[in-house]
Amino acid sequence: MVKARKYVLVNHFVDEAKPTDLKLMEEELPPLQNGEYLAEAEYLSVDPYMRPYVRDLPLGATMIGSQVAKIVESKNPAFPVGKRIVGNLGWRTHTIIDPKTEDQFFKQNPYLLPDIGDLPPSLGLGVLGMPGNTAYFGLLEICKPKSGETIVISGAAGAVGSHVGQIAKNLGLNVIGICGSDEKCKWLTEEMGFDFAINYKTMLVAARLREIAPQGVDCYFDNVGGDISGTVMYQMNLFGRVGVCGSISSYNAKSLPKGTILQPAMLFSQLKMEGFIVKRWSDRWNEGIMQNLQWIREGKLRYRETVTKGFENMFDAFIGMLRGENIGKAIVQV
Ligand code: NDP
Repeated sequence: MVKARKYVLVNHFVDEAKPTDLKLMEEELPPLQNGEYLAEAEYLSVDPYMRPYVRDLPLGATMIGSQVAKIVESKNPAFPVGKRIVGNLGWRTHTIIDPKTEDQFFKQNPYLLPDIGDLPPSLGLGVLGMPGNTAYFGLLEICKPKSGETIVISGAAGAVGSHVGQIAKNLGLNVIGICGSDEKCKWLTEEMGFDFAINYKTMLVAARLREIAPQGVDCYFDNVGGDISGTVMYQMNLFGRVGVCGSISSYNAKSLPKGTILQPAMLFSQLKMEGFIVKRWSDRWNEGIMQNLQWIREGKLRYRETVTKGFENMFDAFIGMLRGENIGKAIVQV
């Protein structure tokens, strides 16, 4: 009899989530039925979306999240023992999967991790998974960057932001990142090829941006929302494009804070602002993964992971990521 460990939601988060909002429990799993397989989690993802999406999760349900898991038992020849899958299975160590069943939130079936050779399987949660596709499709399809233009990226040292900046650099843009520490700024400019980085916690973003981008901003890839975004948008050029990917500065808020009025900037600079959810490109999912894989192999795309060890440390990894303790993709190794 296999025992799964899982986190269930016992209180909805108020302000910042508390460890007591989730409870670590055990569950005995039944024998496999024909067509099913058993997956054992190796790596779990902690992502910002969990904070807002959990509002719709009923109490008692398993905490949402994706994982890379190894198939350890199977009664389905399409999912043989030893292969790995990527799936939104929640915060749990073992899961029986009927491949026909979609997950509750994203309406996706678990899929086999593509052959990525010697690269770490955990990349299926980052640069070769959902955040990687968010960077790829969000930048190319929404911001529509052109060589020679200037792009600003907020949340720049995280999984999505650090990836967006590298694609933009490869396309010949002038790349400016905004993030929350000097260590992150240094990493972006010295290792990830960003032209400039601004620490929003210690610098005046408006003044620094005017200094380093007197030519103005053509694209803004927005991961954070709030004041930072208002500031950037008032320094945008005619026909600038804003891709609204995330709004992490408001995820803990009970009610939305009053923000900068954006309409004058949008009107007089004739900006285009569009929000997107990466699921929009689910029919092109594999294209994104394969392109990112090719860029890694060509040395054009680098990645970094902040790895927390131990399933019992899921909550700390989650809250640490929301507080900005991660550089690159935050994951948990079981
Ligand atoms: P990250 O790896 O970027 O981690 C989150 C980071 O957000 C932290 O490290 C922290 O960095 C920063 N942050 C936290 N609070 C604030 C704040 N108040 N103001 C500014 N920055 C803050 O996460 P991801 O790369 O996974 O996600 C980045 C964004 O993209 C999120 O908003 C997420 O919701 C969104 N997203 C959207 C998707 C879509 O389909 N639209 C899909 C995937 C992600 P720092 O030290 O710089 O503050």
